[in-house]
Amino acid sequence: MKILIVEDEQKTADYLCKGLTEQGCAVDVAHNGVDGQHLALQHDYDVIVLDVMLPGIDGFAVLHALREIKQTPVIMLTARDRVEDRIKGLQGGADDYLVKPFSFLELLARLQALTRRGRALEPAQLRIADLQIDLISRKAYRANVRIDLTAKEFSLLAVLARRQGEILSKTAIAELVWDMNFDSNTNVVEVAIKRLRAKIDTPFSPKLLHTIRGMGYVLEPREPREPHEPQEPRTQESSE
Ligand code: CA
Repeated sequence: MKILIVEDEQKTADYLCKGLTEQGCAVDVAHNGVDGQHLALQHDYDVIVLDVMLPGIDGFAVLHALREIKQTPVIMLTARDRVEDRIKGLQGGADDYLVKPFSFLELLARLQALTRRGRALEPAQLRIADLQIDLISRKAYRANVRIDLTAKEFSLLAVLARRQGEILSKTAIAELVWDMNFDSNTNVVEVAIKRLRAKIDTPFSPKLLHTIRGMGYVLEPREPREPHEPQEPRTQESSE
């Protein structure tokens, strides 16, 4: 999940950034309205956490500019005594609000609810062959056995699983999972793919995570030939 936090209070921004990163989210932080608006318009976030009171242009102005162009889910952070702010935010197209101070767990629950709504067509669980991925609890199972994944490995798996059958380039993966521009000197994607493959594929069959030379990676059960073609006995393996 890719999240933008627009919050001028350094402490709150750091706290949210750290907490969400630990949840496996890719997080951008803007400390004023101008930067927040720029990032919100330039990039595709799954959700934006937008403080109302910001230096420069306030949260309402950012929301207004955003809603002219896109429907990225927005949760606004408002002050306790500012009921009119909540109403103004919701009328301006915010999807939800939280009153400061709020608990991190509440924010997390609201973010999850919002992104579920945003991706109405996305099921809570994805399945590829006997690999089962629960996007809400962030757990994966293969042949009903729980696979122990780090937060980044889970994010990588989820990114591939959402686009199963589709070849994803290293650049796309780097941006979607690590929120970074791909640098050809880094092999972070390759290393992570290798680790993930060892966990989800090595003891199992069919193999699901495939490297497509020169193009990227794809998650799909690989059949030896088109499913509609008559299956021949596997006698050709020795010829290659
Ligand atoms: Ca503020």
